[in-house]
Amino acid sequence: MADGRGGPEPTAIRAGAILTIDLEAIKENYRRLRQELRPVTCAAVVKADAYGLGATRVAPALAKAGVRTFFTATLDEAIAVQTALEKTRPSADIFVLNGAGAGPAEDFIAYGLMPVLNSLGELETWSAAARAAGRVLPAVLHADTGMNRLGLPPAELDTLAADTNRLAGIELRYVISHLACAEESGHALNGLQLRRFEAARARLPSAPGSLANSSGIFLGADYHFDLARPGAALYGVNPTPDRPNPMSQVVRLQGKILQSREIDAPQGVGYGAIHRVAGGTRVATVAVGYADGYLRSLSDQASAWIGDRKVPVIGRVSMDLITLDISDVPAEDAHVGALVDLIGPRQDLDALAGSAGTIGYEILTALGARYHRLYLGG
Ligand SMILES: *Cc1c(COP(=O)(O)O)cnc(C)c1O
Repeated sequence: MADGRGGPEPTAIRAGAILTIDLEAIKENYRRLRQELRPVTCAAVVKADAYGLGATRVAPALAKAGVRTFFTATLDEAIAVQTALEKTRPSADIFVLNGAGAGPAEDFIAYGLMPVLNSLGELETWSAAARAAGRVLPAVLHADTGMNRLGLPPAELDTLAADTNRLAGIELRYVISHLACAEESGHALNGLQLRRFEAARARLPSAPGSLANSSGIFLGADYHFDLARPGAALYGVNPTPDRPNPMSQVVRLQGKILQSREIDAPQGVGYGAIHRVAGGTRVATVAVGYADGYLRSLSDQASAWIGDRKVPVIGRVSMDLITLDISDVPAEDAHVGALVDLIGPRQDLDALAGSAGTIGYEILTALGARYHRLYLGG
């Protein structure tokens, strides 16, 4: 990383922590999922700014690897991705999961974006928009098969199946549903949702189907249909939590040591003095806190790594800082300015999430805005 004067990038010097995002690893993960899915098409879910990693960098990298179908949650996310993909040929399809109510139909049409229709009301909105535009408009139809969150509930599906004229003016690009328990491969709801999805498709005008998210891909070919919709697995989260992670790690988070001290008598460290140390303890203070998405629930729970030495996070995580017990680390490895691995080769995303009592998804989407972001490849 060099600027015009040949030194390191100034923001890297000033930042308290460096977040490295490996776009090549994301592309590798996409190829790995495609191999699992062959010959079925693989889309990419890039909602929530590509799970916090930066959709305008991630989407073009995935497009280079061959992705032509993207899903976002909101219309603004879709517009940002569309703009970032302007030069992609053939152009990409971008679907908005939050539906036709996510924004004015004119905006969808102006940007060439497509809603995932989640209710009869949205179907009516989109059909009316097609009538007003004087042309057929493409969209996805979402049938709820047991998640009870978004999508046409069973009674609305009955109404639609009995009167498919409600689809007038709508080109059905896909019929989709979403699995509630895919990461638990033995969960009974998986098979039930699969059968309900097959039944729903049989009652609707013929259209390609899509059911599997990241974990759904690993439930087997029955779940693949015509298109898979992974998000998390692309970004390194383990889609098969009861087995070793088949995905490559994408993020590395390194915090800088701001200060270190020797504590020579028993004392508390940090807010609330919840962690007491004996005399003869060395403590390092690192410039990452809950304002950066290093969750407060990691207080007195997590570990960091200095080289190949594991160091415990002691005391409370505060807004901008954490404290580590570095008593076992040689002083030359834990000097002011040294980088400490918070997510890295010795502790992956899921391991840190486990220490916080949460999932990798939440750690990723909480990653803060103060990090110096370093993108590899693309
Ligand atoms: C978020 C989402 C996905 C992607 O799920 P992952 O578990 O991240 O792979 C797919 N489909 C729908 C409808 C979603 O909301």
